[in-house]
Amino acid sequence: MNNSAYDGLPRAIRVDEVVAARAPWDGFVQAGETLRIVDLEGNQAVDFLLYAAHDDTERYSAQDTIAAQANILLRVGSILMSNEGRPMAQITATTVAYHDTIGGACSCESNTLRYGHHTKSHHACVDNFLLSHLRHGRGKRDIVSNINWFMNVPVEADGTLGIVDGISAPGLYVDLKMRMDVMAVISNCPQVNNPCNGFNPTPVRVVIANDGPASR
Ligand SMILES: [Zn+2]
Repeated sequence: MNNSAYDGLPRAIRVDEVVAARAPWDGFVQAGETLRIVDLEGNQAVDFLLYAAHDDTERYSAQDTIAAQANILLRVGSILMSNEGRPMAQITATTVAYHDTIGGACSCESNTLRYGHHTKSHHACVDNFLLSHLRHGRGKRDIVSNINWFMNVPVEADGTLGIVDGISAPGLYVDLKMRMDVMAVISNCPQVNNPCNGFNPTPVRVVIANDGPASR
């Protein structure tokens, strides 16, 4: 693959994987390591959760993150907070202007309500999160409000939410430097009933880099 995807990262690359369209991914990331997610083909929502590695009852909290930064959007410098009020990770770089904290994850239930009964069998982010969780002793109750990287959820003046065309493009990325040892869980969103993936789910790339001996 094109190694310009490593620009700006620490020089030791521990993980470099492509997450197929519609697929889940999870992995442990240590404090001090950087997780980069690359929107390979553009306009691809990446649903995302974090759990403390030592005790997964501590996990990413949208409420604590929004309250701590007094803003609903995630940008460079944003700190992802846990439900214990501790910093889990910081956005150290992103080539997309902002990311969503409030749009949530798609599910077969919400698809059915929004788009009709014929969409009930469509694969959804909640299914992906559950696939990951079941491998690690977690269940549906552990799926909390998630981040949507690369997704554009504007809030109108009257408070109405939209899910509109993305602001991302091929090769754009977000870098997260971890503040604690975590498990990161990704659903590469399979939604085809609204524009969050341009009606065409595509692969993303996951890179984990650290300050160990250079691998490149
Ligand atoms: Zn989704």
